[in-house]
Amino acid sequence: MAEKLVIIGSGPAGYTAGLYASRALLEPLLFAGYASGGQLMLTSDVENYPGYPEGIQGPEMMIELRAQAERFGTRILDLNVDSVDLSRRPFGVTSGKDSWDAEALIIATGAEAIWLDAENEELHKGRGISTCATCDGAFFRDKEVMVVGGGDSAMEEATFLTRFCPKVTIVHRREGLRASQIMAQRARDNSRIAWKLDRTVTSWLGEEGDFRGAVLRSTVDGSEEDFACGGAFIAIGHKPLTGFLAGQLEMDDHNYLLWKQHTMTSVPGVFAAGDVVDTRYKQAVTAAGMGCMAAIDAEKWLEAQ
Ligand code: NAP
Repeated sequence: MAEKLVIIGSGPAGYTAGLYASRALLEPLLFAGYASGGQLMLTSDVENYPGYPEGIQGPEMMIELRAQAERFGTRILDLNVDSVDLSRRPFGVTSGKDSWDAEALIIATGAEAIWLDAENEELHKGRGISTCATCDGAFFRDKEVMVVGGGDSAMEEATFLTRFCPKVTIVHRREGLRASQIMAQRARDNSRIAWKLDRTVTSWLGEEGDFRGAVLRSTVDGSEEDFACGGAFIAIGHKPLTGFLAGQLEMDDHNYLLWKQHTMTSVPGVFAAGDVVDTRYKQAVTAAGMGCMAAIDAEKWLEAQ
């Protein structure tokens, strides 16, 4: 028998969709992935999620969200979904050798920050090097930091970081910026922002737990220099996890899913929530909100069928 609702993804969007759908007695089946919990599993303190005045550790929050979804009957499988078939009804969902049928689907697979993969990056991920100024900026108070990237995200992160940091150096691989005029100008006008253009990061400096900066290489003449700083933010873009949906759902130029009617995608009965559809906010609380929206939309859609 077909599942009424299958949810794919286990970040705040997926678990919140599970919470709402289970409370609506849809008995949702949620695929959490082999590494469940999403991007918050890589975050230390979450201080901007309402309801936790003292903050909460990212992984702890995901355990609680999961328990809350399970409490009302969400069934959770720690499996990755390899493929879906949206050309038939009920939809097909495949993981390894097994497959399931689903009348409705919520895609909440999220996105992942693109890392530089410079030497020693693994040593400092989450402790010295971050991909989210909104999440981690406050931990770098009074430190000089660098931001890598030349797009709107880099400008926004750098500008945001000047609230905490006396000096923020933007490192970008060429002279011209990809950022919009207004965002670039705002950064240029900010006296706390310095620039290292025409440079890439070849490796990170410092021992584990003791981040010291980066080795920068000139993209003009290949010369290298040590650049000392107390933290680094990589802002070279995110990529939504939509590869397994290619050709089946409408996406934008960067492969983010598109909403057509409320949270419904281009295929009726398939809904999307969280970072997989979000090029703008990318916050745990907004993802959770969208998970709620998608569950309500799925419930109404199923009822109308
Ligand atoms: P983006 O526009 O794709 O810019 C990525 C930047 O990172 C580019 O400058 C790129 O350099 C650089 N980069 C990429 N790969 C790199 C690598 N391996 N090494 C070094 N540098 C690398 O990404 P984004 O800034 O995240 O923005 C994504 C979308 O969200 C855009 O449409 C943007 O307008 C939007 N956004 C809007 C706002 C806002 O309006 N408030 C804020 C943030 C983002 P090159 O330029 O040389 O390719």
